[in-house]
Amino acid sequence: MTGIAVLGSTGSIGTQTLEVAAAHLDRIRVVGLASGHDGALIGDQLAAWPDARWWCADERARQRSPGRWADGGLEALATADGVDLVVVATTGMAALSAVLAALRSGRRVALANKETLITGGHLVMRVVDDAGGDALDRLRPIDSEHSAIWQCLVGERIEDVERLVLTASGGPLRDRAPESLDAVTPAEALAHPTWLMGPKITVDSATLVNKAFEVIEAKWLYRLPYPKIDAVIHPQSVVHSLVEFVDGSFKAQLGLPDMRLPIQYALTYPDRLPSPTRRSHPSDWTSLDFAPLDAAAYPAFRVVREAAEAGGNRGVVLNAADEIAVAAFLEGRIAFGAIATTIDEAVARWGADEEPDLEAIDSLDREVRAQLRADIGPARA
Ligand code: MG
Repeated sequence: MTGIAVLGSTGSIGTQTLEVAAAHLDRIRVVGLASGHDGALIGDQLAAWPDARWWCADERARQRSPGRWADGGLEALATADGVDLVVVATTGMAALSAVLAALRSGRRVALANKETLITGGHLVMRVVDDAGGDALDRLRPIDSEHSAIWQCLVGERIEDVERLVLTASGGPLRDRAPESLDAVTPAEALAHPTWLMGPKITVDSATLVNKAFEVIEAKWLYRLPYPKIDAVIHPQSVVHSLVEFVDGSFKAQLGLPDMRLPIQYALTYPDRLPSPTRRSHPSDWTSLDFAPLDAAAYPAFRVVREAAEAGGNRGVVLNAADEIAVAAFLEGRIAFGAIATTIDEAVARWGADEEPDLEAIDSLDREVRAQLRADIGPARA
């Protein structure tokens, strides 16, 4: 029996995690729930999982079930008795210290949150290394691309990997001419062809910042240098990623785009179990197309990747700058093309080579956000 704590239980990954858990009651027990907001959904989840202790960022929610409230918040939930694995599906950087605490206390972590490795990859991997053993068992990716690579690497030696190839749908703007990108509206950027996700990550898919973030995560998870990590446009989102080996052979993981599959793999690894996902047959996949990722069409991808390769504190800077820029774009305050320039300028201004500790990450994040908000100015009436 695996006891899981789900941080971010009311979001898309959180609710799908609970669906997977409900399909495997003989294997998975939900012992912790945490959400950013109060609401009817967390009430339903508390009723469905009577063994779960819980916490909400909105302290007024405590009255829903005060006897089960976890004093000490995310960290306390992540390290509570009975927790074997912590599913991190929160947004933002809220979970970074909880991830570190969980790993230090011997818990496994299934990671769906990007910010954790983008801003604190150097801290997280230090703890994973100190613990020894199978690093991917300890820190399990949920993102479909990283899960695909993980599945391809089972039984392989990392020294035999020539290249990781992350697939990218190309987002809603795939067929748009680069020179017309400034005219892209929030509605156009939000119309993702294959995945239904929140607004921030959907815009990140349109700029391919999301893919650049995944390159950074892959570098930490698989310990390969950036030149060995590539991305390719694959509009059908059936091939979730590929691994090329030194002998020229490729392995890929394929399936319908359904996050419950990588979530379940992370919860039940190394076992594969029947899943509640829809089935398909290879004959349904009439074409699988691949095209090189044209960096000119996706300037934000290039900017983020280059900043990441320079290392230091730049992950923190580009994460904060992207979030402020995307919010400003969605509010109509900056043009689509200004997302890339905002990130680029922020990295030039705050980027430094030293790797920050938890406290420095937090203060740098605050500074970048406050300054950029002031620079961009208030929302238009
Ligand atoms: Mg992804």
